[in-house]
Amino acid sequence: MIPLKSKEDLERLKISGRIVAKIMQKLRNYVKVGISTKEIEGLAEELMAQEKVSAAFKGYKGFPASICTSVNEEIVHGIPSDRRLKEGDILSIDLGINYQGYFADAAVTLAIGRINSKVNKLIEVTKAALQEGIREARDDNYLSDISCAIQHYVEASGFSVVRQFVGHGIGRSLHEEPEIPNFGMAHHGPKLKAGMVLAIEPMVNMGTWEADILENGWTAVTKDKLPSAHFEHTVAVTKNGPDILTHLEWLKKN
Ligand code: MG
Repeated sequence: MIPLKSKEDLERLKISGRIVAKIMQKLRNYVKVGISTKEIEGLAEELMAQEKVSAAFKGYKGFPASICTSVNEEIVHGIPSDRRLKEGDILSIDLGINYQGYFADAAVTLAIGRINSKVNKLIEVTKAALQEGIREARDDNYLSDISCAIQHYVEASGFSVVRQFVGHGIGRSLHEEPEIPNFGMAHHGPKLKAGMVLAIEPMVNMGTWEADILENGWTAVTKDKLPSAHFEHTVAVTKNGPDILTHLEWLKKN
């Protein structure tokens, strides 16, 4: 069963999404050459406390940190540490919060200083693939229309989509039905309905789609150690099309 949100639920999820967008914007501005991923987590914790929200990831199935910071070949679930970011690195920040029992989740990949042009293309393609997926998040479309749009765009651009990790429904818990793969054929599986809220999150690798898990039991890395990028938004399916609840543009309009 894919949960449908009431109008009241959606109002609260919107607030939750806006808080994610606001915190993410501040984290983006803070990230620079020489900073450690632990310092980024520290600021995230401070901002979450200011907003009176809690970190959705901390303690989730035993995850040890408040945000995920995945560097270069790390795909997702990187754990903040004393590692300092160097010029040419890329960093994915994944941020999930719980606002009064309503969850929102988003991720961005950032260039640290100057990066090479192929890595920059990986970031741009992943960001655009998320938009391709979001465009399909429409009432009466099939769930797999999202998956297919993402896979098609990524592979046509010469990169690969991760198979082991997928997007998810979100709302009163961090992970709800359905699973949203970033691959698959269009017009399959359940239909999307207004009131569904989805965390759509393409994870895109420069080389092979295959992944390994590091000894910490959490962090996924590419098998060929080539870089990987990740973008995510929490999106409500509405009668008027997709409503991106964690959209950073919101900050400029308000
Ligand atoms: Mg997610």
